Amino acid sequence: MKVDWLIVGAGYTGAVLAERIASQLGQKVLVVERRNHIAGNAYDYYDEHGVLVHKYGPHIFHTNSKKVFDHLSRFTEWRPYYHRVRAVIEGKEIPLPFSLASLRALFSERLADKLEEKLIAHCGYGARVPILKLKEIEDPDLRFLADYVYKNVFESYTLKQWGLRPEELSPTVTARVPVLVSYDTRYFQDTYQAMPKEGYTALFRRMLAHPNIKVLLGADWKEVEEEIKFDRLIFTGPMDEFFDYLHGPLPYRSLRFRLESHPGPWFQDVGTVNYPNEHPYTRVTEFKHLTGQAYLPHTVLCYEYPEAYEPKKNEPYYPVPREENEERYRLYLREAEKLETVLFAGRLGDYRYYNMDQAVARALKLFEELAHG
Ligand code: FAD
Repeated sequence: MKVDWLIVGAGYTGAVLAERIASQLGQKVLVVERRNHIAGNAYDYYDEHGVLVHKYGPHIFHTNSKKVFDHLSRFTEWRPYYHRVRAVIEGKEIPLPFSLASLRALFSERLADKLEEKLIAHCGYGARVPILKLKEIEDPDLRFLADYVYKNVFESYTLKQWGLRPEELSPTVTARVPVLVSYDTRYFQDTYQAMPKEGYTALFRRMLAHPNIKVLLGADWKEVEEEIKFDRLIFTGPMDEFFDYLHGPLPYRSLRFRLESHPGPWFQDVGTVNYPNEHPYTRVTEFKHLTGQAYLPHTVLCYEYPEAYEPKKNEPYYPVPREENEERYRLYLREAEKLETVLFAGRLGDYRYYNMDQAVARALKLFEELAHG
């Protein structure tokens, strides 16, 4: 078999690039995927009760990029959805990200009034303040607040999620969920927040349904490398694996998902409840909130248990953002630059934490580069 492009991985990165190359350049693409399904970590399926379940943990689409939203809108209709998250702190459920509404849920009216006034005076109403920045403010009341939020919301959650303290990770990790100086209780504040009406897998099916694209499932690229002739390769799997761990493994964090099916219509009031402290799991998500299947009599919950990543035993979900890992990645990047016909991209290929929209944006940019020389 001879194709113009071999693409390894049928997640966002691989599928977006395959579709662009097939439809815009008119070239033949073979997508090789080692799992037995398309859609990468965004894969979803209907269980025996008709509940749409996200196999690799809850995926909520949000973006500020009109370009990304418009691109994906070619392959799906959307259902508007604003994700809401609560955290259980000292037995109380408070809204996350930590906001003025969370202050009210935790503290007496007098204390909440004082803290609100000071937060607005120091940061301005509407500000989004990373917790490590809030900790730097000298005011004693805000210092008390920052220490409280850091200890109860961030520290033990981060320890559980990453097996590391926040200071041991790149500040981008804690900055991802800032403290909000507002009463906005939406988890994300992006311009576009919506879920694909028929799910992610249906979106991918349409994206890959081009006559120039063939998809081979259940095949590791190493198994087919010899049998398929191709001009160029796009690799969206782990970069260290591609180079047979020449410079040692790139560290990842993994997760175990436990699904629970309940006969009742609802289990919790919001999409996700975080358990930063006492419990072995980090969060519980009820899919029906995300998918809009309020009419179903059954509901499915997803419990997430972070764990160490071990190649071939579990999945590499999150690149661990630390300087020493970045240095190792740069060694691989140098190897990659020596290969003229191979491109690396995606969450695993770039060793970057990408949300879905960022993976799409990266793939679209890469396509523009290769289409215009
Ligand atoms: P992937 O989806 O990982 O696709 C890579 C594919 O390559 C995989 O299917 C893999 O099997 C295949 N592959 C790897 N190596 C080989 C090989 N050697 N041969 C053949 N195939 C191979 N993003 C959001 O925007 N919102 C969210 O709410 C959100 N929640 C998330 C929750 C969890 C638990 C996780 C882990 C991620 C979440 N994400 C979320 C991020 C989202 O999953 C990624 O942005 C997206 O999956 C990146 O796509 P990708 O194509 O780069 O990688």
